[in-house]
Amino acid sequence: MTRHPLHAASARRESRFRVKCPHCLSFARARSSDLLTPTYREVRFECQNDACGHIWVAGLEAIRTLCPSDMPNPAIDIPFAATRAANHASAKATG
Ligand SMILES: [Zn+2]
Repeated sequence: MTRHPLHAASARRESRFRVKCPHCLSFARARSSDLLTPTYREVRFECQNDACGHIWVAGLEAIRTLCPSDMPNPAIDIPFAATRAANHASAKATG
């Protein structure tokens, strides 16, 4: 099966998603998460800088599809990403 070119690009640069504290910009650790809907999760972060100590909740939401699923769930609607050309045309049409 041929996968979308985005899959190959992702495999080449396996990176860990890391979050920084909004106050001191030190790295934070995800401590727990709750799946609130099939496309929205809340994650509790703790700043790793002992001098800061900030603990917060962040939202993680599926907002755009870049490559469609080969196993689509009819209950899930994640819109396709708009292309730059479509964005440009839309901006021109609305003035
Ligand atoms: Zn901090």
